[in-house]
Amino acid sequence: MSSTAAPSRKIPLNIVLVVPFVLQISVAVGLTGYLSLQNGQKAVNNVASQLRREVSSRIWQHLNDYLTIPHQINQINEESINLGLLDPADFESVGRYFWQQIQVFDVGYISFGKANGEFIGTGVDDDGDLLIDELPQSSPNKTVYFYSTNERGDRLQVVGTHENYDPRVEAWYAEAIAAGQPLWSQIYQWQDWWEDLGEVLSISASLPIFDENDNPIGVLGVEQRLSQIGEFLKTLKISPSGQIFIIERDGLLVASCTTKRPFQVVDGKARRLKASDSSVPLIRATARHLSDRFGDLNLISNTEQLEFKIANQRQFLQVTPLSDRWGIDWLIVVVVPESDFMEQINANTRTTVLLCFLALAIALVSGILTARWINRPILRLSRAAAAISSGELDQQIEASRGVRELDILGRSFNQMATRLKASFTALERTNSDLEAMNADLERRVEERTTELSIAKRQADAANVAKSEFLASMSHELRTPLNGILGYAQLLQRSKTLTPEERHSLQIIYQCGSHLLALINDILDLSKIEARKMELCERDFNFREFLQGVVEMCRIKAEQKGIAFSDQLDAQLPNGIRADEKRLRQVLINLLGNAIKFTERGSVTFKVWTVGTTGASREEGDNATHRLRERPPLPFSRKIRFQIEDTGPGISVEQIDKIFLPFERGCDPASQVTGTGLGLAIAQKIVQMMGTQINVKSQLGVGSIFWIDLELLAITTAAKLAKTDSLETIVGVKGKRPKILVVDDKWENRSIFINLLQPIGFELAEAANGREGLERAADFQPDLIITDLVMPVLDGFEMIRRIRADPRLKDVVIIAISASAYTADRSQSIEAGGNDFLPKPILFPDLLEKLKLHLELEWISSETVAESGGESRVTVPPTPDRNTALIVPPSEEMETLFHLAMRGHLKGIIKQADRLEKLDEKYRQFSEKMRRFAREFQEKALLEFINQYRQQNR
Ligand code: ADP
Repeated sequence: MSSTAAPSRKIPLNIVLVVPFVLQISVAVGLTGYLSLQNGQKAVNNVASQLRREVSSRIWQHLNDYLTIPHQINQINEESINLGLLDPADFESVGRYFWQQIQVFDVGYISFGKANGEFIGTGVDDDGDLLIDELPQSSPNKTVYFYSTNERGDRLQVVGTHENYDPRVEAWYAEAIAAGQPLWSQIYQWQDWWEDLGEVLSISASLPIFDENDNPIGVLGVEQRLSQIGEFLKTLKISPSGQIFIIERDGLLVASCTTKRPFQVVDGKARRLKASDSSVPLIRATARHLSDRFGDLNLISNTEQLEFKIANQRQFLQVTPLSDRWGIDWLIVVVVPESDFMEQINANTRTTVLLCFLALAIALVSGILTARWINRPILRLSRAAAAISSGELDQQIEASRGVRELDILGRSFNQMATRLKASFTALERTNSDLEAMNADLERRVEERTTELSIAKRQADAANVAKSEFLASMSHELRTPLNGILGYAQLLQRSKTLTPEERHSLQIIYQCGSHLLALINDILDLSKIEARKMELCERDFNFREFLQGVVEMCRIKAEQKGIAFSDQLDAQLPNGIRADEKRLRQVLINLLGNAIKFTERGSVTFKVWTVGTTGASREEGDNATHRLRERPPLPFSRKIRFQIEDTGPGISVEQIDKIFLPFERGCDPASQVTGTGLGLAIAQKIVQMMGTQINVKSQLGVGSIFWIDLELLAITTAAKLAKTDSLETIVGVKGKRPKILVVDDKWENRSIFINLLQPIGFELAEAANGREGLERAADFQPDLIITDLVMPVLDGFEMIRRIRADPRLKDVVIIAISASAYTADRSQSIEAGGNDFLPKPILFPDLLEKLKLHLELEWISSETVAESGGESRVTVPPTPDRNTALIVPPSEEMETLFHLAMRGHLKGIIKQADRLEKLDEKYRQFSEKMRRFAREFQEKALLEFINQYRQQNR
């Protein structure tokens, strides 16, 4: 991924190959150059120092000889005179003697000046010929005669003269006599007697000769021409621009290696130059440096090696003192510019740099060529790889010539590409096969789905048919069954029956009861399975509810002769919101089972709060799921209902099955009857409530069934007062509201009329929508209560038309429906209804709605009593709750039982009213019956009547 992300940021292979190569070469060459320069410089220093030393010592050696010989000649000559070998008076032999010496020694002139003014000397002229100069005592005008000589030293002829010469006034003579010892004269200009030798500086070694009395006899002298030193210096090779010069301690030049003379000629006289005034720049700068450095040149006592700079150029310098016992005190100066040596080194360095660049260029070119050489096949490879990755699989690359590895790489790549292509082809084939299979599968799935949906539709239809069948069958069966059971009971009361007949009747009754329970359960189950069962939640008095359940079960337990106890927690809420009827059904089923299966011991019913809010619900079916979607209730409590018994217990294998329909305990000896549907239904209901029935059981010990239900606790007095207030409402304050009841069943209409008329409402009725519209037009009701499903014109349409009618459009409409499906509620509201009530109608709810929509104020029995009873409604005395229930006589009970068996609720209500009128003491009993009847609790009503009927026997 990353390799394709930003190729531009990556370094090309060319650079990777060339740059390090070039860098290496540059570094290597640069380092070599630098080191060779450094070493060269070091070597230069060494060489320069050695050279100076060598040269200086050679000069010193040479000068030492050069300056010693004249004094040695003088000494020889003195010795010769003293030994009498040489007669100073015999100028003839002295001249020849000197002539001989000149032949041997490399000196300029050998002479002898006598105290009487005579003078004899020999020297070499400019042509190399030897001349003898003589000034005899007899010479007029002190004339010196110059004689040419032959090869044996014989004088030939006078070749020149020089008048007025007195040796005794010459410096070489006078200074020696004055000093009384041999010495060197000052440097002076050569006296040019014979011909123009040019201006030549000389120096003379003098030796005075005294007699026994220390009277001077004369002075022996040997002259040296300083130009000879210069000539010698010129022969020395130091460096191209190096200089050698000799100076006296006062800085005057003695000789130098240059062609320049160490003096200037002014008016035919030589004037000596100071080295610091020399026309040679290096000599001048060196002299100046020396005087700058030492101040006084006399301070230089030892050989010194120095360095200094001229125009930033280093100069190597050596100063060597040269002195002898006859008064020579000179300084030999050798100066060598560094550049003379460095020139070569620099030339070398330049060559090195050039070579560096050359090497660099070669490296670069060869690097580029190599890179290209390597790169080309790689480039081909990468192009081919890119082409492959973009889907062009037909890629083969040329074999690389030269590089073995690249060649192998290329071959491998070609192989890979071939295989890749083969794989892709195979893959494509597989893919198309798969696609074909997929299409086939899809087609099959589609066919199957169609088949399945047809089957589902068929199954649904069958299910609906089954449900309808079950519902209608159960209804159909219930009516005759009620008759069978009723008359079985009646017959049992006959006094003329034999015990066998009575037993047979008992069996008929038991079978009938069993069948009735079975039908009821099947009906429930089919409702649940068809998802037609819905929970109908409302607020009710929880304590009263539990008390009712307990009472019912206690009687059963007592009849069976087992103990029954209840433990209802004091902390339980007074009111809760739940489907009261279904909750009672579940609890009675569990308690009924416990009592039914327990032969000895006891049954305990416990109810307590286990938590407040947020308790999780167990996994359930769809109904559970629906409930779960409700937002958490603000005052919800988790309440546990637990039923414990000391019955036979349930085996582990059975425990999983007992909640399945028609699943019953398989104890053949057991006399206990049942359908095997009770727990299945109870579990379904509890699951709809969002939880489940739990069971824990031990064979031979007993069972515990429990349910944890999350219920909304109703604490407000107003809400709970509803149930109570129903009994205390006796009228409407201040007005007589008009209500139109529209229902196709007269029983339903009569319920509203019987309830509402006595408390001061004016009622009118209609059997369908059309009649309803007509009645509404002339009756002008304040409120209409209407059923939704009716013949001729249904409730929805009627509501719509009323809303369209300007005379009626503002009337309050409350829709009622037996189906109680939520769809009815929303549709009726959509059609224009103000409110909705599900059937069976709960009176407290109805009164609450009437109060709300008609803005009523109730007259309660208490307010009537307070106001002195001046109400037009007779106030029934409030029943004393503590009074014991007075049961009517057994004939009445039989009648009631028959009515209840047939489900004739209207008859029950009528009977209740009659009994109440008959005697006030039956009021509480009648009240209970009426409540069961109004709430359509057929089963509870039957059990209630039956239980007192049996007591009466
Ligand atoms: P029925 O009571 O009509 O047989 P149920 O569905 O109510 O059907 O119960 C199914 C079975 O579970 C019963 O037949 C019985 O075997 C077993 N059962 C239920 N409650 C108890 C109990 N408290 N003690 C022992 N067994 C029980």
